[in-house]
Amino acid sequence: MSRLHAVLAAIDEGLNASMERWFELLRMPSISADPAHAEDCRRTAQWLANLLADMGLKASVEETGGHPVVLAHSVDTMHAAPRVLFYGHYDVQPVEPREAWHSDPFKPEIRTGADGRARVYARGAADDKGQLLTFLEALRAWMQVHEGRPPFPVTILLEGEEEIGSPSLDAFLKARKADLQADIALVCDTNQWDAETPAITTRLRGIVHDEVVIKGPNADLHSGLYGGPVPNPLHVLARLVSALWDEEGRVTLKGFYEGVSDLPATLRRQWAKLGMDDARLLAEVGLKPPAAGEKGYTALEKIWARPTAEVNGMGGGHMGPGAKTVIPAEAFLKISFRLVGRQDPQAVREAFREHVRQHLPAGFTARFAEAEAGAPAIEIPEDSPPVKAAAAALEEEWGRAPVFMGCGGSIPVVGSFRHILGMDTLLVGFGLPDDAIHAPNEKYDLTSFHKGMRSWARIMARLAETTM
Ligand SMILES: [Zn+2]
Repeated sequence: MSRLHAVLAAIDEGLNASMERWFELLRMPSISADPAHAEDCRRTAQWLANLLADMGLKASVEETGGHPVVLAHSVDTMHAAPRVLFYGHYDVQPVEPREAWHSDPFKPEIRTGADGRARVYARGAADDKGQLLTFLEALRAWMQVHEGRPPFPVTILLEGEEEIGSPSLDAFLKARKADLQADIALVCDTNQWDAETPAITTRLRGIVHDEVVIKGPNADLHSGLYGGPVPNPLHVLARLVSALWDEEGRVTLKGFYEGVSDLPATLRRQWAKLGMDDARLLAEVGLKPPAAGEKGYTALEKIWARPTAEVNGMGGGHMGPGAKTVIPAEAFLKISFRLVGRQDPQAVREAFREHVRQHLPAGFTARFAEAEAGAPAIEIPEDSPPVKAAAAALEEEWGRAPVFMGCGGSIPVVGSFRHILGMDTLLVGFGLPDDAIHAPNEKYDLTSFHKGMRSWARIMARLAETTM
């Protein structure tokens, strides 16, 4: 452990130098969505490759057809295992609305809040430049203390297209599979529970979308001349939508809950203690209880561990101003399902389609959108060795056990690592819910940066002793 303490001391002593590198990275406007910044993205990739080479890794900028990927490998290591793949992204979101920023988004500024906490404001301060540097700077400190050797073989993969949906990533993973072999992937792009409580994200809901147009009468009809006997597609749609849930808030699609596992009692207890009840969650969005959704589950359980059906859009008929007495020929619905456990996206979509067909009056037809693959949920067992190692390390640094969080949305790269590279991902991040990522005045707390680096150093020490 004294070796770890030397690494932690190196992190503390090198904090100013680490921050200088962080600020230099933040000054580069690597906005992946804007073609005018393509050269900035490339410059950022090259800067990171230089940084990694300077640390003693074998680093290169790799072409993808889009913005390049930065790839780096350790050369000589202390132990032969476990092999670790670290993923981060160097691209950032656009800054609009620019006038809402209190300082230049690409001139990082430290400001101390009324609560006495220092924060760095810049686009990418958290997402993902600050976050990815917590790992890289911890690795730098480790290598500096141990004659240029990391604790185990490390591959670094930094993408430049995460904020535009990673269009080139899967092809890159497939093409470079041999170079990316590892026992576990580490991703630093998630949040803590709050400023004092670290977290490991172990559950990501999956998703599947569908879209349908219901066609009834052969043309829009006058509701005075035809209203009464002619079934109205909008009424049909409203009825089939309302039939998607029963009185208990459970989704009624056939086989929908197949593969949904019960929440372990330990997690239920941990989440119950977090103080996020229905009333608090609803107050955030200007509402009051009772909450929607399945009876018998708390707000957090519903978001992190239960599946949903959610209507994202529906309409048809007269949508313009004023009245128009029409029975529309068509009505449309856009719907998505959040998935958990081993729910099969294709099976859920097929059950939905069957539900639609069963609700159609005679002569009606349903036209479905082209089926996309959808993404199954990801669950990393909380008692798996890497999660236990990271949890112990985080508890040492923060003085309290991490929360095992779910994430109601999906993080596609985690699915790609599992399906293409065949490895699980450990999701540890030091972002805070008020970091304003993707929004004006994005920030990262200085403690997130500093304790984030220290946390990674401790996680590395624990992983080095873990058999997977
Ligand atoms: Zn982002």
